Amino acid sequence: MTALCNDLTTLSRINSDFISRDRQMLIGGAWVDSSAGATFAVRDPSSGKELTRVQKASVQDVDAAVVAARKALEGKAWGEARPAERERLLLRLADLLEKHADDIAELESLDNGKPISQATGLDVPLSVNFVRYMAGFATKIHGRTFDVSVPYAPDTRFFAYTRREPVGVVGAIIPWNMPLLMAVWKLAPALAAGCTVILKPASDTPLTALRIGELVLEAGFPEGVVNVITGAGCEIGDAMVSHPGIDKIAFTGSTSVGKAIARSGVDTMKRISLELGGKSPVIVLDDADLAATIPGIILGIFANCGQVCSAGSRLYVQRGIYDCLMAALGEAAKSIKVGPGLDPATQMGPMVSAGQQRSVQAYIEAGVAEGAELVVGGGQLASEGFYVSPTIFANTDHSMSIVREEIFGPVLAVQCFDDEAEAVKLANDTPYGLASSIYSTNVNRIQRLTPAIKAGTVWVNCHNIFDAALPFGGYKESGIGREMGEEAVGLYSEIKSVCMAVG
Ligand code: NAP
Ligand code: MG
Repeated sequence: MTALCNDLTTLSRINSDFISRDRQMLIGGAWVDSSAGATFAVRDPSSGKELTRVQKASVQDVDAAVVAARKALEGKAWGEARPAERERLLLRLADLLEKHADDIAELESLDNGKPISQATGLDVPLSVNFVRYMAGFATKIHGRTFDVSVPYAPDTRFFAYTRREPVGVVGAIIPWNMPLLMAVWKLAPALAAGCTVILKPASDTPLTALRIGELVLEAGFPEGVVNVITGAGCEIGDAMVSHPGIDKIAFTGSTSVGKAIARSGVDTMKRISLELGGKSPVIVLDDADLAATIPGIILGIFANCGQVCSAGSRLYVQRGIYDCLMAALGEAAKSIKVGPGLDPATQMGPMVSAGQQRSVQAYIEAGVAEGAELVVGGGQLASEGFYVSPTIFANTDHSMSIVREEIFGPVLAVQCFDDEAEAVKLANDTPYGLASSIYSTNVNRIQRLTPAIKAGTVWVNCHNIFDAALPFGGYKESGIGREMGEEAVGLYSEIKSVCMAVG
């Protein structure tokens, strides 16, 4: 078995320099070491080898970041900055991300393992677009006026209105699957709303968050407005959640950690928004256009190696087209070119970490043991690196762990259904409710199914399509709140009612 490792000699000069020394953290506008003097390794998922080291922050570093973020929030430079100034700074940040798009895409691919074509074609442009979209909201945050009645004060007139104010210091805790995009999903609306931020990237992928820290300084944001700290979630993430100096936690990650955050955050009555896991259903009706459906299913489950919270991991196919669809799907999955992220020909890279690879392999073994039919994949692909081959199971049912649990890997579980009612029942038989998709050419059937599916997103004849304007978030255990769209700004603001007696 051969190795499928990245060729690091082709890295851009800027990225070779970036990883050539231990990276520091951004606190209060300065690059600093951990107060504990500790660092940890960042690895290349295609080889498992160490790329560079980052600081392992201590709880004291969290305190320092909170002090810096609070000072910036209350200081003149940011606290009194006009909306147009916040907009200008965010637009400048978007321009810098765009200017460095190729280097940032390369760094993202190197750190996470994702194909460079995806980092270049999706992660970076979506991030740039999102920062620009949110920049515009800085100047469009508004309250309302009210004609109040106040029945017990009939002789007094009142002028009443609401103001939207920044929620304060935001702790943003993000995962490793889309590190750049997740960072800007938190940063941009928080900054548009006038908050200050402490950003903690996942330990498996801290590099692009640190690079954003550099661009934030270059853009001219006042010191302390954005702080980036690296370290273990169970230590500094936990310290952020219980810290009385942090007003809000914005979290994307697993449902289990999200639940723990919600429980612990209630002690300080923090504002909490959660984007959590999913087990999203894909329903293919027997009138679907298979030529368009197959690429949609493939993208839905194998993009980013299945490490997408909204991955279409449960496929329900109407009986009449089952055999035909499965034959085409199997061929399409076998033709996916798996390889190192930096190879431009790669369509699917390695998983992010050895731990994630082990976890997905264990699910594949469980699927076989539980009696599902392994149609494609399941095997080990390379002698080094964290690879898992694209895998499809048929003849699955809802008693199986591969159908019930979020795998977060390139594993698709397929089963048949007979009518629309059965499809809806199966689709909703999950504690999750993040996303879903329907493939059909019949608009009446689509419109019957759409309201019946309990999920924050319903894609029709596509899957994993995101846009800055479209709110994204979960029903049920997939989370609380909606990111993107104008809803996102609301996550970072408080509403103040003002009622003035007029003489
Ligand atoms: P995770 O273990 O929940 O980690 C996510 C983040 O939380 C990381 O930064 C992690 O830090 C930190 N963390 C871990 N334990 C913590 C604690 N006790 N207190 C505070 N922070 C803590 O999730 P993951 O395994 O990295 O990511 C995969 C999961 O994220 C999947 O379940 C997926 O569905 C979900 N996800 C959801 C969305 C969405 O939009 N809904 C998007 C992407 C991913 P360390 O890295 O240092 O442990
Ligand atoms: Mg984790």
